[in-house]
Amino acid sequence: MPDTAPRPSYQKFAVDVAPSRIDGQRAFAAESIPQRLKIGEIRGQSISVADARIRATRHERIMIVEVSPRRAIDFSKSSDPMRYTNHSCRPNARLCIRQGRVEFYAMRAIAPGEEITVNYGETHHKGKLACHCGAPGCVGRL
Ligand SMILES: [Zn+2]
Repeated sequence: MPDTAPRPSYQKFAVDVAPSRIDGQRAFAAESIPQRLKIGEIRGQSISVADARIRATRHERIMIVEVSPRRAIDFSKSSDPMRYTNHSCRPNARLCIRQGRVEFYAMRAIAPGEEITVNYGETHHKGKLACHCGAPGCVGRL
């Protein structure tokens, strides 16, 4: 992805996207990210949870996060690099839903070139997708 557009203010650290050995694309740190700091957000289309569940049944590779019991964000058309953040059973970042926003925070210092991962927790897949993160203690399912 050519990085010509200026970074939005909610993207606090430089993050690039590249093909992943885990799954599809990956988001990786393009600079050092200190522990506990906010990395960035994903913004997208605000939809109802009911619509989100319908979309989730239609697409194998969904990019939807439920941000409240009623609202969800669909990132399919987002250009934010954090939308490519993969799941790991031993993640280096965490996803935090705050006031309807999807934010990412570093759980530890992340080095340049390191893939950024989070624990997806509850997903629409309900244990039907295999996890390929390869981390010790991987639960094997998403
Ligand atoms: Zn895993």
